[in-house]
Amino acid sequence: MIPPLFKHGVTERFLRYVVIDTQSDPDSPSCPSTDKQKNLGRLLASELREMGVADAHLDEYGYVYATIPANTSKQVPVICFCSHMDTSPDCTGKNVRPQIVKNYRGGDIALPADPSQVIRAAEHPALKDQIGHDIVTTDGTTLLGADNKAGIAEIMDAAQVLIENPQIRHGTIKILFTPDEEIGRGVDKVDLKKLGADFAYTVDGESAGQIEDETFSADGVTITIQGVSTHPGFAKGKMEHAIKIAAAIVDRLPKDTCSPETTEGKEGFLHPIGISGALEQTTLSFIVRDFTEAGLKEKEALLERIVKDVIKDYPRSTYRMEIKEQYRNMKAVIDRHPESVDYAIEAIRRAGLRPVRASIRGGTDGSRLSFMGLPCPNIFAGEHAFHSRLEWVSRQDMEKAVQTIVHLATIWEERAAP
Ligand SMILES: [Zn+2]
Repeated sequence: MIPPLFKHGVTERFLRYVVIDTQSDPDSPSCPSTDKQKNLGRLLASELREMGVADAHLDEYGYVYATIPANTSKQVPVICFCSHMDTSPDCTGKNVRPQIVKNYRGGDIALPADPSQVIRAAEHPALKDQIGHDIVTTDGTTLLGADNKAGIAEIMDAAQVLIENPQIRHGTIKILFTPDEEIGRGVDKVDLKKLGADFAYTVDGESAGQIEDETFSADGVTITIQGVSTHPGFAKGKMEHAIKIAAAIVDRLPKDTCSPETTEGKEGFLHPIGISGALEQTTLSFIVRDFTEAGLKEKEALLERIVKDVIKDYPRSTYRMEIKEQYRNMKAVIDRHPESVDYAIEAIRRAGLRPVRASIRGGTDGSRLSFMGLPCPNIFAGEHAFHSRLEWVSRQDMEKAVQTIVHLATIWEERAAP
């Protein structure tokens, strides 16, 4: 059995990790995209070795691998816990100065270094479940990096619990910390053979108790408009302006549906993320998201209809549309291994929480890992308002996540054949 009150160092770990700047960079071609991510990787590998996890190491691409050996004679599938070390390029992660609001009594939380930054109870309904908890926030000038250093701290703390309590039985446990998840390259250089896991869990979810087995399916679409350029003084009846064609396409996108700002739940969207170019050639970049393949195709067809309809007024201009698959809904893979979700639900329950099954309006490392042959649901880390200066996480939720991870390791052992 798990000692009911094992000592938790998860918050202290978390505070140690968030002050290390690990922002990733989508424009960098290297792996990891920013070398500074290795600063955290080195620390994690050395902390793991200090705990007694002998093989813990950081590889040349910025991945941390580690193994907690089995302490049971049963044949237990090898389980991996995974979190990402990088933080979002959308918000600075330099000089993170965390503060702790102890014993939260409700209401808004003002961030001390920037009066305009207030975590308002009305805008963050999850705060109502945090009464009496200690909430970690930033000073208002950076993101916090609970996404995903909360997950890292939780996995590290769970590792310590497993190592210090040999009476807790478990199979072989693998730990994987990845770089560059926020720029969609988190598993580009992962060595699954070396990892040798049968099932994995990313610990990168939001509210305590959540388990997610479904992500968006995602494509990227690039539309290149080739217009007709002439000297502007002699352009009448000749010029076909690629920038204006592109602008007309954007203007015809649905206004009340199909965009991130008008959808929620299981609805997908078609979302322009970039425009660049000049008179002769302009490129529009989109991301397309939906929970089904059919939904993706529908949105891409809609986009192409809009393009065709706009460009028919420009007879000498042409367009090229390129669709690139980004990732796919992992549910198709995970549904073949329902026990991976069932055991997580049981672990959440044993940690004293109400399990909530949810779907992710985004991707995780797990969506790609699942399709690479490693089924990988996502369990909560307690992170909230990520990618923003209002990001927060509570000590109590992180502690529940540690307990969930430990319970999950034991449930796989309990259910294994002797
Ligand atoms: Zn994340």
